Amino acid sequence: MTAADSPTPNRIVVGIDLGTTNSLAAVVTRHGPRVLRAADGEALLPSVIAFPEDGSTPVVGAEAKARALDLPTRTIHSVKRLLGRSRADVEAEASRLPYPVVPEPERGLARIPIDGRDWSPEELSARVLGAVRARAEAALGMAVEEAVITVPAYFDDAQRQATRHAAELAGLRCLRIVNEPTAASLAYGIDGSHDGTVVVYDLGGGTFDVSVLEIRDGVFKVLATAGDTHLGGDDFDRVIADEILTAAGAHDLVDDAYVKQAIRKSAEALKIELSNAEGAELAIDLGREEQATLRLTRARFEELIAPLVERTIACLRQALRDAERTIDQIDDLVLVGGSTRVPLVRRLVAEATGREPHDGVDPDLAVALGAAIQADILAGGNRNLLLLDVIPLSLGLETMGGVVSKLILRNATIPTSKTEEFSTQIDGQTAVELNIYQGERERTADCRKLASFRLRGIPPMPAGLPRVAVTFMVDADGVLRVHAKEQRTGIAASIQVVPSFGLTQDEVREMMRASIDHAMEDMADREAIELRNKAAAMVHGTRRALELSDLPPDQTYAVKKATNKVDRLLAEADTPADELKRAVDDLSRRTAQIADDVIGSAVHKALTEPREPEAR
Ligand code: AMP
Repeated sequence: MTAADSPTPNRIVVGIDLGTTNSLAAVVTRHGPRVLRAADGEALLPSVIAFPEDGSTPVVGAEAKARALDLPTRTIHSVKRLLGRSRADVEAEASRLPYPVVPEPERGLARIPIDGRDWSPEELSARVLGAVRARAEAALGMAVEEAVITVPAYFDDAQRQATRHAAELAGLRCLRIVNEPTAASLAYGIDGSHDGTVVVYDLGGGTFDVSVLEIRDGVFKVLATAGDTHLGGDDFDRVIADEILTAAGAHDLVDDAYVKQAIRKSAEALKIELSNAEGAELAIDLGREEQATLRLTRARFEELIAPLVERTIACLRQALRDAERTIDQIDDLVLVGGSTRVPLVRRLVAEATGREPHDGVDPDLAVALGAAIQADILAGGNRNLLLLDVIPLSLGLETMGGVVSKLILRNATIPTSKTEEFSTQIDGQTAVELNIYQGERERTADCRKLASFRLRGIPPMPAGLPRVAVTFMVDADGVLRVHAKEQRTGIAASIQVVPSFGLTQDEVREMMRASIDHAMEDMADREAIELRNKAAAMVHGTRRALELSDLPPDQTYAVKKATNKVDRLLAEADTPADELKRAVDDLSRRTAQIADDVIGSAVHKALTEPREPEAR
């Protein structure tokens, strides 16, 4: 690299794409963003770590990838799929990996045992980051200590924090976590000639993301994002591997680590060949002197992967709906990730967007180049660009009756914060428990609990009187902090939400799908819960008002009767909502009349004004 090629500011911040399959670094020079290559010109570093049998230092990259067959259980690939996950979360794929994955005893987190030592996915990712860093330092001729690292947009809090930990372990300060499709859009739009609405479709080795962005005058605003952290080229390899095993009648060999590595390698080679040819043939060494030959046509391959590609198209449509954009409003389509070289993927995405892919962006390099641009912005080198990203899943608080009151909705621009006031449910309550949830459904049972904490020391007051202001803050990395303060006394508590491990992808997918399927049902559920809450508050309030008031006996009797009826209906779990509503309306009419006549407007107000949702 020449002097003119050196990075723009004095401070060096590199952009790193830490991929499932390959990783690489880039930096912004006076000539624009550049990939940092190895001495032989290679840009991509395979995200693979091999542990030699003699216990010597693990090797990383192409050298490790080349050892896969002679060290089948000691060559670790696709470790990004295990980041921030428990062993139970990765059950399905662990059985297909040639290396073992075990649960760590305390929280069941995924660990990879080698020679009696359990490696965490963070430590293994740190090895990959260390190799990327060494390559960057050799290319730049100086030390690299700070980086912007990309993650799939659909990574949850735990996966983002795990990525940060991996950077720390590799001796890198991670200045910002950037979503991969957002980074790719920066690489695409840097020259300022692409204002408009852009769809970035990013299908890599292990993850899928799609984002809809609006680019205008140097502002890159993400409108919506959707994805699947468990879908990518590895899954295409898996369906080919199954085909190979069936063709060879060799399903009994599937437990053999050597065979697993051999088939995985052959499956990927066949897949890549089919991106350019209509058919391909490969001899596969099954060990024990057995060989199998597989012929696969592109048509059969497409039939096998069609359901997987359809899943990505469903996400794409979801993102467009969330962004409130129609196909006609899309100005450009940007494809990122090695798996977008598969012709069926290109065809179906082009059909779904009505656009041919933009071909000015190298799908392998775009994410790292975009990360370098964001790194340059943070290092003070470029002040003309602004990146506005979003949070992928809604965040909320449990309120009475197991309902989630959402404070921050998915696709909200980050950083963001929102405050809402809640109150107590019981007279004299001196503590409130705050339960924090992530997900799209209305009921806590259908969302993922992130954390809970208690706000203590509230002086005893009648129910509904304390005013607890709860603030959710999401920073630019997508990490959540929660703060609660009782407004009358100033008593406060706060936590940074660190989930023990992330959502399983099935849960995310199920949550997204179910939130659409169940939207009507959820709304009815929510109304029913709110009606019950309102009814309980009215019973409580009316009884107290009756104690304080001096009503004529006939009116007292009528109100008591109406109150008791509501109370009785509430006690029966299967009371139809319309029957309860009629009783509540009747009670409401009677108390309003009394309030007007006798108790006075203050009590009337107390009885009829909607109460704030109550924290449990
Ligand atoms: P990435 O994570 O973006 O590096 O993408 C890696 C994935 O892209 C792996 O599953 C590769 O097998 C796949 N891939 C790379 N090149 C091709 C190709 N020419 N055709 C099909 N898939 C490819």
